[in-house]
Amino acid sequence: MKALTVIPLQAGSAELTDMPDPSPADGELLVEGVALGVCGTDIEIVGGEYGWAPPGEERLVLGHESLGRVVSVDTAPDAGFSVGDLVVGVVRRPDPVPCGACAAGQFDMCLNGRYTERGIKEIHGYGSSMWTVEASYAVRLDPSLESVGMLMEPTTIVAKAWDHIEKIAARAYTEQRRVLVTGAGPIGLLAALLASQRELEVHVLDVVESGLKPELVAELGAKYHHNGVAEAVTGCKPDVIIEATGVGQLVFDAMQGTGSGGIVCLTGVSPTGRHLDVDAGAVNREMVLENDVVFGSVNANLHHYEMAREALMAADRSWLERLITRRVPLSSFQDALDRRDDDVKVVIDLSA
Ligand code: BGC
Repeated sequence: MKALTVIPLQAGSAELTDMPDPSPADGELLVEGVALGVCGTDIEIVGGEYGWAPPGEERLVLGHESLGRVVSVDTAPDAGFSVGDLVVGVVRRPDPVPCGACAAGQFDMCLNGRYTERGIKEIHGYGSSMWTVEASYAVRLDPSLESVGMLMEPTTIVAKAWDHIEKIAARAYTEQRRVLVTGAGPIGLLAALLASQRELEVHVLDVVESGLKPELVAELGAKYHHNGVAEAVTGCKPDVIIEATGVGQLVFDAMQGTGSGGIVCLTGVSPTGRHLDVDAGAVNREMVLENDVVFGSVNANLHHYEMAREALMAADRSWLERLITRRVPLSSFQDALDRRDDDVKVVIDLSA
């Protein structure tokens, strides 16, 4: 079979590699790849900035935003899956210790950093024409989600963000009416979708002035801003901010942009080594005097996959389809890795 592989930390090493077809172990499903979403983390891995190959191997099969179809349940006959089921594979596996969080099924909150992640950290990903997955880490999707099912994993990321925002909000009397999402990439737009499903007043900030992003935001009934964070914050006085750009200055602006009892969820992974001039005292003062909470959020556990599946089922299918701005066959994977300005989500077709 063909697999999209890289040598982690070596830029320019991505290639299509011929690999033996996988054979499922006990408890695993054999799956044919349908599609693979490409995200910023994949671009970083391909750029030689992130990623770990499995121990003892040079190359890592890329890909964590999966979608596939079950072709054999022979090694997991009692797991409740059938041949033909549309499935998504979970990204993270618990650490082997396991830490308390992983032992409790909250591997997204792993305490010792020894978790592994498919296509990212020490286990091969889903970027191949065939793959296997433990039935306990496979999530079945309704057949009607076939054209958009590879959006599940990024949706789990924002489902977790919302799950934790709501848990933090429950700590005291606070009000969550207005939400500002910074960044109208796939994570930002999906965060806005889940906000609109919660019937909140939704605002989205990006730098792009026209085109698909403002249209998609408007279709959610949300307001689009493109004149900087100060204008957006003054215009909407958000109770919640979901930061999805990882741009350092924006992160600090967001931290100071909420009203009393404000919650800021940081989801963007920023590059390191860039220095900002920040009035740390002012940031601290405002957070203390307003009972604000700023927290980071990464990855997702099985509960969030369940939330994400419900969110996708409830969403307008054509809105989700419009997020996918380009689909390329596996043989043209290089095209998928070259970002264009008008891209929202780029998808590699594994069955093409
Ligand atoms: C993935 C997460 C993963 C994180 C860190 C993100 O792109 O969506 O599942 O935990 O990268 O590796």
